Amino acid sequence: MAAEIIMPKAGMAMDEGTIVRWYKEIGDPIEQGEAVLEILTDKVNMDVEAEASGVLLVQLAKEGDVLPVFTVIGFIGAEGEEVSAAQAAVSAAPAVSKKDQAEPEANQEAVASDAYDVVVLGGGPAGYVAAIKAAQLGGKVALVEKIRVGGTCLNRGCIPTKTYVKNAEILEHAKHAASRGILFNDASFELDMEKIVGYKDQVVNTLTSGVAGLLTSYGVDQYNELGLITADKKVRLASGQELETKKIIWAGGSKVAQIPIPGIDHERVLTSDTILDLKEVPESLVVIGGGVIGCEMAEIFNAYGTKVTIVELADELLPMMELEISQALRTQFTKKGITILTGRKVEKFEGQADKVTVTIDGGDTIIGERALVSIGRVPDLSGLGELDLEMNRERVVVDDKMETSVKGIYAPGDINGRHMLAHAAFKMGEVAAANAMGHAELVDLSIVPSAVYLLPEIGSVGLTEAEAKKKYGEVLVGKFPFSGNGRALASGETVGMIKVIVEPKYFELIGTHIYGPAAAEMINEAAALMAAEVPADIIADTIHGHPTYSEAFMEACADALKRCIHLPKKA
Ligand SMILES: Cc1cc2nc3c(=O)[nH]c(=O)nc-3n(C[C@H](O)[C@H](O)[C@H](O)COP(=O)(O)OP(=O)(O)OC[C@H]3O[C@@H](n4cnc5c(N)ncnc54)[C@H](O)[C@@H]3O)c2cc1C
Repeated sequence: MAAEIIMPKAGMAMDEGTIVRWYKEIGDPIEQGEAVLEILTDKVNMDVEAEASGVLLVQLAKEGDVLPVFTVIGFIGAEGEEVSAAQAAVSAAPAVSKKDQAEPEANQEAVASDAYDVVVLGGGPAGYVAAIKAAQLGGKVALVEKIRVGGTCLNRGCIPTKTYVKNAEILEHAKHAASRGILFNDASFELDMEKIVGYKDQVVNTLTSGVAGLLTSYGVDQYNELGLITADKKVRLASGQELETKKIIWAGGSKVAQIPIPGIDHERVLTSDTILDLKEVPESLVVIGGGVIGCEMAEIFNAYGTKVTIVELADELLPMMELEISQALRTQFTKKGITILTGRKVEKFEGQADKVTVTIDGGDTIIGERALVSIGRVPDLSGLGELDLEMNRERVVVDDKMETSVKGIYAPGDINGRHMLAHAAFKMGEVAAANAMGHAELVDLSIVPSAVYLLPEIGSVGLTEAEAKKKYGEVLVGKFPFSGNGRALASGETVGMIKVIVEPKYFELIGTHIYGPAAAEMINEAAALMAAEVPADIIADTIHGHPTYSEAFMEACADALKRCIHLPKKA
């Protein structure tokens, strides 16, 4: 009797899989355990292995078909064995849907023989990773960058801000040293802002030249100028040169969002770009926007000695975060002397020679030496050129392959607005490149950790408790405070906790939120386990090193199941 080949269920969340390619033709001999075909699950490409030896008798689906899990996709049997039409028809019944059937692709045949395989527009995390990946896959690749490779992340975002956060951390540790018996002779400090900015620039230069070197090592041609996509799918450079290419990856990233508030253009009103080059510490700073960037800047400048006021439109700082953590952050910021005004809207700025007056709703005014507007980021569409493609509120619409509405043009990273984080951009860039080079990969952005680099840090992945309750009804919640963690106590870093949200049927971990030391590092453990669908009971049983901060994660999982050893018995 012929043996079935089925679409496997290769993960709890997997409902369907895509057939990438058959390794065997009808009539080919197959050994038990040998790979018969490659499929794409919701997360990875994997091989389906033969359950029996024989020859491949029937293929019930073709490359590109998307099939529900457990669908029969072929038969293996003895040479000459018949699989009845009825058996095959019944097996094939769970509707073979077609997705991404190969259409004639953009520029594939029209281009000159010396054309690039891929031209990448934008050298940020999405773009430079895409360029390297496409080159690794054998492509002839060019990268066009109008400012400097590294993008927002290396030049104006993740990295410069983290050099400043480290300074804040050093100051905070010094402030608390006396309580541990370490007495510096003089408690006062001075900041040499020229040197601080210089140190930051040195870190940035090391990293950006590292990226340029990587691109060179992979043979990627680099053009340092503005690029535009033309109607016939070439890339036109500012110099007038046109790059012919089979595929384009448009990774233009994002820029600071501005809103039409009177006075916003005054030089005393800064953005996250300009504040990073400030050569003097302002005596006072009004931060407009209590999101990630606003809170990080507030933490940094407060530590530098600036009097900081945050004005936030929502009811809490970091409104997308777990509410309990936003509330704990408010308490911490207030203790540190940061003034927080939530539920308030800025109406105008009036800048003078040495100060700026910020008027908020109701007519109240706050005076600062400087103001910082950090209300979010919007896609940088400067590469759009003559291209007509589907947009959603200034964001480029892409599918899970990162392909735009125009075949052969991909748009990974901040430009599509799906997840405006560097590590999400890395992954989107890699997938875009693989697809541009003829592979079939999808991006899964359901589990993306995020971090806010405060003192202490915040790390978050998955659903908040409120979101989980909406989706699942009742959920299990586990918490472990850092005040009960040995390493945190030894380090004097007892603020905060780890909170986990667990789905009650299979104990699937669906959310992890950390406020405490090393949260930005620890959240990756939670994200990796969530991606691997390791349930909370298994995590609670894993041996974690002692003393470590991450023991608190294992304890929080145990608490969700009401079996945490290091918390008092619950009523
Ligand atoms: C202050 C700040 C702090 C941040 N901190 C973090 C953090 O800690 N962690 C995190 O994950 N994310 C952080 N981010 C977000 C992160 O920087 C972005 O998500 C990431 O850089 C997006 O990568 P990207 O490649 O899509 O775009 P970008 O990094 O914006 O890169 C796009 C590049 O394309 C170039 N470009 C655009 N149009 C053209 C054109 N037409 N021709 C040629 N070149 C073009 C631009 O010059 C730019 O270099 C931060 C952002 C800011 C502003």
